[in-house]
Amino acid sequence: MLWGAELKVAVVDCLAFGSLGRRVSSVDVVGTGPRLVIGMLKRLGLEAKLFECDAALSASPKDFDVLMVSGMSSDLESMGAVLKRFGGGMPSFAGGPACVDYEELLERGFTAVVWGEAEISLPKLVEALSRGDFRGVPNLVFKEEDRIVSNVVSGYAREPVLWSFEPDVESVKSYKYYWARRVYVEVVRGCSNFYRTTLPVLLPKSVECSRCGICRHGELESRLACPLGIPPGCGYCLVPRLYGPARSRPVDQIVREIEGLVELGVVRVVLSAPDILDYGRDWLVKPRPLTDPRSPPANIDALEDILSSIFSIPEVERGRVHVMVENVKPCLVTEEVARLLGRYLRGTTVNVGLETGDEEHHASLGRPSTVEEVVRAVKLLRESGLRPYVYAIYGLPGESWRTVRRTIKVLRRVFKLGAERVILYKFKPLRGSAFEGYPSPSGRDPRARALKNFANSLEVSSKRKLLGKTIRVAVVDLYRENAYIGYTLPHGPVAIIVSNDDIRGRVVDAVVREVRRREVICSYMRSGA
Ligand code: SF4
Repeated sequence: MLWGAELKVAVVDCLAFGSLGRRVSSVDVVGTGPRLVIGMLKRLGLEAKLFECDAALSASPKDFDVLMVSGMSSDLESMGAVLKRFGGGMPSFAGGPACVDYEELLERGFTAVVWGEAEISLPKLVEALSRGDFRGVPNLVFKEEDRIVSNVVSGYAREPVLWSFEPDVESVKSYKYYWARRVYVEVVRGCSNFYRTTLPVLLPKSVECSRCGICRHGELESRLACPLGIPPGCGYCLVPRLYGPARSRPVDQIVREIEGLVELGVVRVVLSAPDILDYGRDWLVKPRPLTDPRSPPANIDALEDILSSIFSIPEVERGRVHVMVENVKPCLVTEEVARLLGRYLRGTTVNVGLETGDEEHHASLGRPSTVEEVVRAVKLLRESGLRPYVYAIYGLPGESWRTVRRTIKVLRRVFKLGAERVILYKFKPLRGSAFEGYPSPSGRDPRARALKNFANSLEVSSKRKLLGKTIRVAVVDLYRENAYIGYTLPHGPVAIIVSNDDIRGRVVDAVVREVRRREVICSYMRSGA
């Protein structure tokens, strides 16, 4: 085995590539994980190159000594296809949220699976590559004589290891159309919601919450573990289990990364956090872990600091580069918080999770907020000039006709209050989550159909509102003769623009003439700023 700087590592991003090796959703997203892995490998003295899944599959990259592939549970097919394409004979590692499916990944031929946060395992893994012996590497799962060996350790990355590596900025250029895509920049790692579901947990053994109260009212440290072993967070989610409690990244690192991306021409940045409102809340309880999703309230000073620092980057201040956030916990949205977000993020989208509109069902899932707090958050955010997207899930454990009726009622309310979109997801019983073992719902189930029909009708009316409106589009490629494809700025549907001019690589204004399920058809107006 080669050692040190001579080792050449291919890192392949399969996130959201599903089973086909091409993206069908979130087509314009560039995630944070693979760039961080590249940054770590380079700091550890290795040569590393990033590929998107489809590029790796079509180009068959050669001359690499090690393969690292990142993906989600839904990307196992694509991850396996990449492994095949590179061929056996080299050490290969799978990581990202798909790590919970380690048995299948090992079955597909990966040498080992990296569990959870890369900072915990990667430095030791790089050392172990020279020996070909992975036994001492924490958070690594591998096979030894047909037996699966799991070195998963409890706990999560803490400073000084946490934030000691930085994502590689230059690697963003490995992504097709990178300049126009939503490039995610990590701001908060993990989630503060350590509440748990009170619905029965089926696997690995059947248990039900005894209502001991630890995870809702106990000391912050004691909330990390449930005496019955119920995984933390909402029952369908894996974030707190895999990535730990919320920890905030230092302001100077975030600003430095965004400045680097802006210099490379990136025009859209998403501040990546399971909840942006957790930013700096961990500093208020330090050194204890932030495992309470409701208290302390949002750290206004920290939020002001991070947003004002980012918005003092000239291109961001002038509006040439758009900065957005991902999610907020409704329970942390107050008038003051909404005003602060509105001051910097007016006109951008923000995700608010409802999941179910039935108060009892909502609480039983492990949600940190109440349904009424969701409604209030949507109202406050809208009044402050943001564009809330509200999320719901069909087929959840505990769903009934009563919960479905109440969800429809609440979705109607939030839509009237100004939610720009209502997005309905299908429940997926993720391996390792509290809801592992529950059945995957059928889309033909009458309750699923009722929710889907309702969500579709809202989607159609929200898209119709775009008709005749002028939108700004980052044009990335030719779609067909005299038509170009691009991404709506700061965020919106994919746009097809009819134009006689070649407008590739430009930001242009366009008028929406037709609305389709996946895209809008526009006519070209003129060059944007
Ligand atoms: S710590 Fe476990 S048993 Fe106690 S309330 Fe939370 S989920 Fe229930």
